Amino acid sequence: MRFVRFQTGRDLPRYGWVYEEKVGPIDGSIFDEFRRQEATLPLESVRLLAPVVPSKIICIGRNYADHAYEQGVEVPEIPLIFLKPPSAVIGTGAAIEIPPQSQLVEHEAELAVVIGREGRWISLEEAKNHILGYTIGNDVTARDLQRRDGQWTRGKGFDTFCPLGPWIETDLDPADALIRCRVDGEIRQMASTRDMVFTVPQLVAFVSSVMRLLPGDVILTGTPAGIGPLEAGNKVEITIEGIGSLINPVRNAITGQNT
Ligand code: MG
Repeated sequence: MRFVRFQTGRDLPRYGWVYEEKVGPIDGSIFDEFRRQEATLPLESVRLLAPVVPSKIICIGRNYADHAYEQGVEVPEIPLIFLKPPSAVIGTGAAIEIPPQSQLVEHEAELAVVIGREGRWISLEEAKNHILGYTIGNDVTARDLQRRDGQWTRGKGFDTFCPLGPWIETDLDPADALIRCRVDGEIRQMASTRDMVFTVPQLVAFVSSVMRLLPGDVILTGTPAGIGPLEAGNKVEITIEGIGSLINPVRNAITGQNT
């Protein structure tokens, strides 16, 4: 099933589900008891929002060997984690804003895990029972600030630096899904999630050994090789086989312009 968060007109955001290009509202909580209403709204008639409102976004660094090599760093022996603030989240169609502090903002196409059930010290075997589904994430990074600061909060944490969407797919095998990132139609990244150093269950278990995972929390599972610069006026399209496409234009944060 595909869960969305959406808005029509001036109504408040709400959860829904997608069936054959149509959206139906959902009553109740997608993390608990819910009831689906008939899907009658054409997908293009609603505004899709980020499909979750996470309490935290946990990101995995260097989880594809090819990406570690292109950055000139070793693959970590245990998962390398950092956080992005929830205020960085935007949905599909919303603009990534290039902040004036950075001269090098880059895209990072990633499979995003959406937690469905709270847990701490989750075992490998139990991990899948704590996952609601999967969406697409872009771990947008101000590379120059990441390198200069040594710790990554600023370089990873600007508003709009965490596009998520277009929806949560509950029926996906995360072990072998193709990830592709295009900027203005040019292919920048293409890889399978089977090339991850640490698997999704290993990441859920590891992160939950550090911090309690709550429903709606998101784990960004790392990016494959091929990261590259973004400039105002670009359009970034990340596609994951079995999920769909997350599409975001890029603009200048101060002027709001495409240049
Ligand atoms: Mg990343």
